[in-house]
Amino acid sequence: MSKSSLKGRRIRLGMVGGGTGAYIGGIHRFAARLDDQFELVAGAFDVDAERGHRFAAQNFIAPERAYDDYTAMIAGEAARDDGIDVVAICTPNFTHYPIARAFLEAGIDVICEKPLTTTLQDAEAMAEMVSQTGRFLGVTYTYSGYPLIMEARSRVQAGLIGKVRTVQVEYPLEWMATGVELKNNQQAAWRVDPKKNGRGGAIGDIGTHAFHLAGFVTGLKVDSVMADLATFVEGRALDDNAHVLIRYEGGARGMLWASQVAIGCSNSLRLRVFGETGSLTWAQEQPNELLYTPLEGYTQIIKRGRDDLDALTQARTRTPPGHPEGYIEAFSNLYNGFAAALRARDANLAPQGIGAVIPQIADGLKGVAFVDAVVDSHEQGAVWIKPKYG
Ligand code: NAD
Repeated sequence: MSKSSLKGRRIRLGMVGGGTGAYIGGIHRFAARLDDQFELVAGAFDVDAERGHRFAAQNFIAPERAYDDYTAMIAGEAARDDGIDVVAICTPNFTHYPIARAFLEAGIDVICEKPLTTTLQDAEAMAEMVSQTGRFLGVTYTYSGYPLIMEARSRVQAGLIGKVRTVQVEYPLEWMATGVELKNNQQAAWRVDPKKNGRGGAIGDIGTHAFHLAGFVTGLKVDSVMADLATFVEGRALDDNAHVLIRYEGGARGMLWASQVAIGCSNSLRLRVFGETGSLTWAQEQPNELLYTPLEGYTQIIKRGRDDLDALTQARTRTPPGHPEGYIEAFSNLYNGFAAALRARDANLAPQGIGAVIPQIADGLKGVAFVDAVVDSHEQGAVWIKPKYG
């Protein structure tokens, strides 16, 4: 496979999954394209090879670079001088590990969807493989890509809310409030199967996003968790509602709620952080505003796009205040960070700026360890459990 320098050219991207009717693959394609850092040149887009080829043709992928499956893709791309530099894995959870392992073994960098794997054992094996091969593995914890999440993080780091006391994070959704998995819903069908989704239902699917976001903004490490999981829709094998108490190292406390059955909540991720001298509130459905309240002061609305915000916040912003940016831009900010990290490595430099604040293998591993500890806690009768990686 080509090891040609990334200097002066776009990064060649391949994709596994994300074909016809899939959800997140399309978002990856928008995000990768937005700032011209990447070009999508190859793919094994579908578990059904024929459908994958049709999809590739519709998306102007050269026929010889549309593959039946990911093993053929690795063989084909490795044989080319202009083979892909990095692959985006946009398939259901249970396939992440075998696919990532195969690309890493072939010397190809990886961008992997969350949760990283369905078992902690696989996540540990993947981390070991990343460390052995020296390859890059970015994890798409989408919500950490928002500019005002970066601003919240920089304000916590600057001490503007003082020592963090409590973290409230919630991620309620409504789309699985009924048995949609029985009505040909492609996304729901594999998410309710423990073999395909992993041990945690809502806690694995969206709890991992909330968990990562809270840690990204506060910098806190988890000491232990206590959980109460519930399955409200009859016949489901996994939780569709999770309440988790969190004790952080250093004494801060947290509460995390993840639900797939919260009617009225479309994508209502919200984070509130309370410190000794102030608080911060951010909500995914109003991502262009961050609320900051200093002790005994008025609540201030921080708007995205102002030029007095943190440099990293500005580096993740494209348009002036009042011109809304959202989900696609946040996802693209992750892709820009991945590009910066890959280009830095290519130039034998340490990643700086946006390339240094992206979710990577250690974050993916922590997410899987969190799910494991949460499910253990629930199964043992809501006891305190220390995740293996906090
Ligand atoms: P989906 O069911 O909509 O799409 C999965 C795609 O993968 C389909 O095109 C399917 O044909 C393909 N596929 C399955 N096995 C394959 C294989 N072996 N080779 C090639 N293609 C294969 O699923 P989705 O909702 O898009 O979720 C995919 C992943 O993305 C999951 O891990 C999920 O947790 C994650 N996800 C992340 C976010 C985020 O915000 N980062 C949002 C949604 C989903």
